[in-house]
Amino acid sequence: MIPDVASVLRWRALFRAGLRLSGLVAGAVGLAFLTAWAIEGVNDRDFFSLYWYRWHAAAVASCGLWCAVGLVLAGPVTRFLLPLHRPAWPPRCPACRHELVSLREARCPECGIELPGAFVSWSEPRERAGRGAA
Ligand SMILES: [Zn+2]
Repeated sequence: MIPDVASVLRWRALFRAGLRLSGLVAGAVGLAFLTAWAIEGVNDRDFFSLYWYRWHAAAVASCGLWCAVGLVLAGPVTRFLLPLHRPAWPPRCPACRHELVSLREARCPECGIELPGAFVSWSEPRERAGRGAA
């Protein structure tokens, strides 16, 4: 089953928003750890004792990394994980491999299986569908 472009774009927007939100939350958690580290480190005058504060440092680093991924790389990560299906032209019937050109209905003319509706627009030759110039 090939998802149509609209639903892929909808899922992408949802996933990207969730990733950005998680980045914001991770940034806040990382900032809280950094604040706790700073308060304790300044009071005890051992701020740079990285062995003592290793868990704080690990939390700050991992939350900061997640914050960067969520806020900066949300778009590329989403595009990588949820790619748009761009079929080669002409598309072929998934069942019999018949070349599907200029379909009038979402059904293979050779073997008769029902196809997703997107095949009708994909089967248009590129010049007619206006995709040749791009
Ligand atoms: Zn077929």
